[in-house]
Amino acid sequence: MEINLISDTITKPTPEMLNYMLKARVGDDVYKQDGSTNELETAVAELFGMEAALFFPSGTMANQVAIKLHTQPGDQLICDRSSHIYQFEGGGAAVNHGVSSALVDGDRGRITAEDVLYHYTDPNNIHLPVTKLVCLENTTNMGGGACYELSEIERIKEVCEARNIKLHLDGARLWNALVAKSQHPTQFGALFDTISVCFSKSLGAPVGSVLLGSKELIQRAIRLRKVMGGGMRQTGYLTSAALFALKNNVSRLQRDHYRAKQIEMLLNKKTWVKEILPVQTNILVFRLEDDANIKPFLDKLKQKNILISEIGKGWLRIVTHLDYREVMHEYVLETLNQIEL
Ligand SMILES: *Cc1c(COP(=O)(O)O)cnc(C)c1O
Repeated sequence: MEINLISDTITKPTPEMLNYMLKARVGDDVYKQDGSTNELETAVAELFGMEAALFFPSGTMANQVAIKLHTQPGDQLICDRSSHIYQFEGGGAAVNHGVSSALVDGDRGRITAEDVLYHYTDPNNIHLPVTKLVCLENTTNMGGGACYELSEIERIKEVCEARNIKLHLDGARLWNALVAKSQHPTQFGALFDTISVCFSKSLGAPVGSVLLGSKELIQRAIRLRKVMGGGMRQTGYLTSAALFALKNNVSRLQRDHYRAKQIEMLLNKKTWVKEILPVQTNILVFRLEDDANIKPFLDKLKQKNILISEIGKGWLRIVTHLDYREVMHEYVLETLNQIEL
């Protein structure tokens, strides 16, 4: 039995999900004739209290189309230095859209209204790129699953509105934040111009993200998705998995969060652990007292069939997920407890 805690993207569809996928009502989604996809888009838009939604093959493509919706070449977006949009989309903002990124050294990937003000550029100064967009990430990936307070997002929104800056949320793991903070999707829908949410991470579907926005923005997004090669045909097999995930796999995220917290509590007692970013959701980011121990530590875990990842600069990451079951969790706690470094 291999226990893979590298990411929450590794989950595989359960027999129940596969069964639901078999019953998809499919058609050609490029012609908007795929029943399950139309159902998913309507359901997610309603859930967030936003006008429209669009299914994407990946969160990266959804974020990239969102950036294009809000910018022109030469514009600038503001985001945290560790954000997915800046670090993990192959430089897409620059490659696809000619957009530069003003980088904030935020708190675990979270930025503030003051940070936005600090990086905002005077549109009348011809030397400077024009600030058109702020991108937030919730929960933060590299920040160890940290969540925003709604009050901070409201302050950021105020700064943006007064300066005609659009606000995008990379909500790949927004489901985790909603459950952890007992927030409602409509609270986010009311604050953002566009939101991307993912179904293939914590919710356990095999593929797909959804971009939310106004009717007008999503109409434009359909064209931009096509340009990027993301117009797909019988997507119902994928979107029915997302529908199943939405119905069955949201509230259970609490269990993933609880298990991550239990691992944190155990690691906190270990002399070989130097620092842990306090767990808020399903991601646990920590470092060892001595960086030289990283390889022996990962090797020891691997010998016990436990896989975790190294995310750079001495930081290690554990991600709990749908396929991480109670028996595995007990075994992981016991194994970690016995390790000596
Ligand atoms: C995974 C992830 C994405 C998008 O990932 P895809 O693999 O392209 O679906 C976007 N933002 C964050 C924060 C992520 O963790």
